Amino acid sequence: MSPAITVVGYGPAAHRLVQRLHHHGHRGPVTVFGAEPRPAYNRAQLLSVLDGTLPSGALALGPLPLGAEVRTGCRITAVDPGRRLLRDSDGGVHPYEVLVLATGSRPVLPPLSGAGDRRLPDIRVPHTLPGAAPVGRGPVVVVGGGLRGTETAYALGRAGHDVTLVHPGARPMHRLLDDRAGSLVTGLLGEAGVAVETGRRAVAVETGKIVLDDGRLLAAGTLLLCTGAEPDTVLARTARLAVGHGIVVDDRLRTSDPHIHALGDCVEAPGRHATLASAWDQADALARTLSGGDGRHEPARQVVVRPRL
Ligand SMILES: Cc1cc2nc3c(=O)[nH]c(=O)nc-3n(C[C@H](O)[C@H](O)[C@H](O)COP(=O)(O)OP(=O)(O)OC[C@H]3O[C@@H](n4cnc5c(N)ncnc54)[C@H](O)[C@@H]3O)c2cc1C
Repeated sequence: MSPAITVVGYGPAAHRLVQRLHHHGHRGPVTVFGAEPRPAYNRAQLLSVLDGTLPSGALALGPLPLGAEVRTGCRITAVDPGRRLLRDSDGGVHPYEVLVLATGSRPVLPPLSGAGDRRLPDIRVPHTLPGAAPVGRGPVVVVGGGLRGTETAYALGRAGHDVTLVHPGARPMHRLLDDRAGSLVTGLLGEAGVAVETGRRAVAVETGKIVLDDGRLLAAGTLLLCTGAEPDTVLARTARLAVGHGIVVDDRLRTSDPHIHALGDCVEAPGRHATLASAWDQADALARTLSGGDGRHEPARQVVVRPRL
């Protein structure tokens, strides 16, 4: 008989897992808890909402198989592996038979003094749909010139916004690109009308302004923090699972507890990259395992990154 499966986290990885469980013949109960107050959506397309190219509804993922129970707006705060219980933020307690953690990633934010002040600029982290709501009028400062920040600055520049990209490295995407490729990207940003401040950090926020670490002020109606993300291991730690940079899993996506699996951006596995394709591969492999098949997961050997520039 198919085991009852409980999934914590309702992003693209969890969504694909539930679809593939049905595909591979799992017919036991499936329950999904998602902290966000909406069904799973395609997080990789958030930039298209931010720059106004797509309405937020276009990011919706397909329907789940009938019978899957989804609890949105419900954050699980603790796992008790000994008694196989979950606790939620409203005090609810939920037993589980087989647990899957799909808690994704959380943004890494820079220390910014004055950022608690509610006056302008509008400070956003474009990691969720509310954070990626279309940008209003006025100058935009994008902090962080990695892949996501560079794409964001470029897209908003092309959409006609007055954009400055602030990046601590010597050139945008300096961890991914050599000097020559970095110069090409800087040129493309310039063509899109983006001003680039390299070798600089934002250190404080004032009314309508960002303070750089050399003391200069940049006008800002909107501040977008694109300063990276890391695996969300908060819940895994409550269960005392083995955690390194992410939740440690084996080639069947088992954690250090035999009744708990994990997949997607929250895990650490050899060759794993925080991409949609990787999350979907893992979802299919885990669905095979949990449906009684052989779901050994082999990560892709290569990942091709194509910046949207
Ligand atoms: C701006 C941006 C652009 C991107 N662009 C690309 C791209 O172009 N190509 C690409 O391949 N990838 C891209 N990615 C990465 C891609 O979106 C991720 O790899 C993918 O979303 C991973 O899915 P996931 O389900 O593992 O995690 P997530 O999408 O992070 O979803 C995890 C979900 O779990 C929920 N959760 C966490 N903890 C709990 C809890 N305790 N209780 C209940 N729910 C919880 C979270 O609220 C979240 O909804 C991008 C990501 C971002 C942020």
